[in-house]
Amino acid sequence: MDKASILEKYNLDEYELEKAQSEDLKQLIKICNENMDSLDEEAITKAFKLCYLSHHGLTRASGEPYYYHPVEVAKIVAQEINIDDISVISALLHDTVEDTDVTLEDIRFWFGDEVAVIIDGVTKIAGVFKSRDSKQAEAFMKLLLSMAEDIRVILIKFADRLHNMRTIQHLRREKQIQIASETMELYAPLAHRFGLFNIKNELEDLCFKAIDPTSFKFIARKLREKKDSRETFIDEFMMPIGRQLIKQKFSFEIKGRPKHIYSIYRKMQRQQKPFEEIYDLFAIRIILEDPHTKEDCWRVYSIITDWYTPIPERFRDFISVPKANGYQSLHTTVITNRGKKVEIQIRTRRMDNIAEKGLAAHWKYKEGEQAGSESLDRFVNWVRDVLDNPRPDSTMDFVKDFQLNLYQDELYVFTPKGELKTLPVNATPIDFAFEIHSEIGERAMASKVNGKMAPLRQKLRNGDQVEIITGNKVNLNPDWIDDVVTHKAKSRIRQFIKQKQRIVSDKGRELWQKRLDRGKVEISDQELTKIAKRFKYNDTQNMFYEMGTGSLDVNTVYKEVKKYKSTGRIEDDTSETTSKTDQQIQDEYINNARSFAAGNALILDDDISNVKYSYANCCNPIPGDNVIGFISRNGDVKIHRTMCNNAQHLLKTEGNRIVDVQWAKNIDNKFLGAVRVIGEDRVGMINDITDVLSKSLSTNMKSINVSSDEGMFEGIITLYVDGLSHLDRIMKRLGRVEGVKTVMRYE
Ligand code: MN
Repeated sequence: MDKASILEKYNLDEYELEKAQSEDLKQLIKICNENMDSLDEEAITKAFKLCYLSHHGLTRASGEPYYYHPVEVAKIVAQEINIDDISVISALLHDTVEDTDVTLEDIRFWFGDEVAVIIDGVTKIAGVFKSRDSKQAEAFMKLLLSMAEDIRVILIKFADRLHNMRTIQHLRREKQIQIASETMELYAPLAHRFGLFNIKNELEDLCFKAIDPTSFKFIARKLREKKDSRETFIDEFMMPIGRQLIKQKFSFEIKGRPKHIYSIYRKMQRQQKPFEEIYDLFAIRIILEDPHTKEDCWRVYSIITDWYTPIPERFRDFISVPKANGYQSLHTTVITNRGKKVEIQIRTRRMDNIAEKGLAAHWKYKEGEQAGSESLDRFVNWVRDVLDNPRPDSTMDFVKDFQLNLYQDELYVFTPKGELKTLPVNATPIDFAFEIHSEIGERAMASKVNGKMAPLRQKLRNGDQVEIITGNKVNLNPDWIDDVVTHKAKSRIRQFIKQKQRIVSDKGRELWQKRLDRGKVEISDQELTKIAKRFKYNDTQNMFYEMGTGSLDVNTVYKEVKKYKSTGRIEDDTSETTSKTDQQIQDEYINNARSFAAGNALILDDDISNVKYSYANCCNPIPGDNVIGFISRNGDVKIHRTMCNNAQHLLKTEGNRIVDVQWAKNIDNKFLGAVRVIGEDRVGMINDITDVLSKSLSTNMKSINVSSDEGMFEGIITLYVDGLSHLDRIMKRLGRVEGVKTVMRYE
């Protein structure tokens, strides 16, 4: 497109923003100025205008104008990642090429090559996301990283996902859970890998809130209730330390923030403890202002341990040995004179910025003032270095078994169902077909790449979605041997050519000759080739092959020859029938099971929905729990709690089987629930517990398992309940039994 017509399309230099939009722009520039040393305000203004104009008239699921989204993403990029203005501009434009009539050429014209490369990367990745399911997270991460020519593509993708998660409540519940699971599986660990801890923590909390709102709200409420006493405690605890630090002329800040909700939940799960027994709900952080050094961190450590007793095994020195993602800090846990354990982190302001904002901040500190493309290259190399040589670190166990591949010697492509396949570079759809199944390779007729017909022999590119169109006849072409790179395809083709086809087609030819002899019919090779074509074979060789395998009846061909002999004509074949595959049958089941709800949730009541369902034994859901349904292979629906480990696994691997389920308002049935009671081992304890259950709550017990050790009593009670509120009442009441210390739901 020429300059004049681009200018005509959106003349950004001339356009005057409306008042409300100029206010939005001003706010964005303010955030940029607070977080970046230098920026091109004019370019940001232009990007804002194009963002506003191109998305004009579009709305999001929330009903808000669409352009709010890229502006919010740009704010996150400026605030949380703050590398440079190029990434802010790219964030503003990240959905334009994908969703509007703005082209990559327009972007290049207004903002130059660098921005165009980033937008191109973001658009490609978005396309890949549309066609995947949530399988194979690790391989998918590799794909993302290998597709991104510029690391800022990935960083913008984090910000994009964060804003989408912040606004997820506007989507259907089913969709919410799917997106949250994908985020938990893919984005949160990758953000952690990049050292973007703030983003990772917020993503995890938002996912948790979407998947299990009940547990999320429970912990959030508990944290709120404890806020005042926590703050008082921190003030009192830090008083003597603060005095010493001031006396010794330190300049510092003390933060006492609660840990993020999901990490508290994880801890409760791991240690099988109720909220009240998690001692490190918060960490105290002492941040030393510039120009304090790491030696000063050690001095602070020594002041703290003068006052409080440290627990040696909980000491961590991430200053001398930083984590692979650049994290540096001293961690220590001390005991107060009242026996309370408190975790303290000591770090400089610089270390704190890296901890909060990750590699980008580290890079900034390394490079000082001189930001530019050269130093960005060094940053990218440094990221690659870190990613390729992970140091042992238990917090990053998800990468234990694989190395991120940034050197593009592998190719990542998708099946039509979104499954990811890894192939060597230069692979073609033929390789892909053989990768799926040797029979698909043998019967491949044509391919579709990204929805368009493409030659089977064309080289594939990263992120391509490939579909193989197969005939019901073998269609192997010996020339393909030069177009394939995978061992599988090469050896299959060779094998096919050399042995199977010859032997089998010889056998077929024999059968055919016998039939001709019996009927006393003669036909020339030329005529027979025509007949073979009528049966959709390239040549007689392939037809004999199919006769040899028995999939083509010699009598069918014989009849055709007789007809031809008498009429002199060859008729067209129209009967192309195929039998249903297992996959198709399975899909039908799923569709049947889905159709009852027609987009609504399955209501759990007594059979009104007309669908067979049952409750999973692994998590025993009871009315009030957040639940989700999975359609099993026979079309029945299994109900799990959303946070059940098995359900989480299914969400990741079988996302297409989810159905939204809801509890009916009134359910007459009783459900099995279990509680764990811990307390003093005293005479009459079991009696008192059973009394409470049967007399004051008239609840039926199914079983009670009791063990005691060193004067402590532990009971696991299985009982019949109406639902969550009933179980809560039981737990509260049991908590008041004399000597009982904790009561929690048992899973
Ligand atoms: Mn977006």
